[in-house]
Amino acid sequence: MARNVELSVDLIACTHFTQPSDVAWTTDATGGQALIEFAGRACYESFDKPNPHTADNASYLRHVMEVGHTALLEHATATLYLRGLSRAASHEFVRHRHFSFSELSQRYVDPEELNVVIPRLIADDEALLRLYHRAMDESRFAFDELLAALEEKLGAQANGILRNKQARQAARSVLPNSTETRIVVTGNFRTWRHFLAMRATEHADAEIRTVAVKCLKVLQPLAPVVFGDFEIATLSDGSEMATSPYVTDF
Ligand SMILES: Cc1cc2nc3c(=O)[nH]c(=O)nc-3n(C[C@H](O)[C@H](O)[C@H](O)COP(=O)(O)OP(=O)(O)OC[C@H]3O[C@@H](n4cnc5c(N)ncnc54)[C@H](O)[C@@H]3O)c2cc1C
Repeated sequence: MARNVELSVDLIACTHFTQPSDVAWTTDATGGQALIEFAGRACYESFDKPNPHTADNASYLRHVMEVGHTALLEHATATLYLRGLSRAASHEFVRHRHFSFSELSQRYVDPEELNVVIPRLIADDEALLRLYHRAMDESRFAFDELLAALEEKLGAQANGILRNKQARQAARSVLPNSTETRIVVTGNFRTWRHFLAMRATEHADAEIRTVAVKCLKVLQPLAPVVFGDFEIATLSDGSEMATSPYVTDF
């Protein structure tokens, strides 16, 4: 039977800021948020903090976002490793063109068992869940049968790796949209904000919205000023969404 997997989102890399030793400036932030302030001050040589209203990192960054100087956010990046999302959700994710992606290969990695992401609307309903599992079982059965037949058909192919790849890439065409995938995603903070604005709203597909809110929960502690304006709320069905009042800042 298909196994429902949980979504996990891990921060695996982020910007480390190293201040040039000959620049007389200090800030109360580190990492990406320090870098954004440095880049902004480098534009105007304002390392001496002439404006007392933007002297600390948080007020400086808030000002940057208010005036729309959000190109500065592109200097800071975060890389997340996501497991337990469906191929349907990853397809929506990869539409965001400023991210860099690496995704689990269905051509190289054998799905030992069918790991899936069951839509909540189905998972909460016994009759629908039965129907769903029947479809998954049939899909898995067809995949196994096709794979065996394809391997036999390609038996003359001496290169075993190539044979397996050719067989899997044809057989996978019957795997469902809800098959689990895993992705490494690198994006700068401006791109993450755009993704959150588009995908954490209640108008987005339920799974990608769950993914976006989980990403937000990882990004907020990393850069509380840059992502702090996104507020998480619970919808009537118990799922979460997030929005920011700054909708034109990307
Ligand atoms: C609720 C919802 C429903 C959707 N439904 C569908 C659907 O039915 N069918 C479908 O195909 N897609 C659909 N999408 C996906 C959508 O069309 C976008 O492909 C996806 O959201 C990426 O958004 P984007 O292009 O703004 O962002 P990104 O690719 O993340 O780019 C960010 C921004 O960079 C700029 N940019 C990027 N590339 C270019 C470029 N080539 N030229 C000029 N500016 C550029 C734009 O300002 C863009 O907003 C849906 C998205 C949502 C949120």
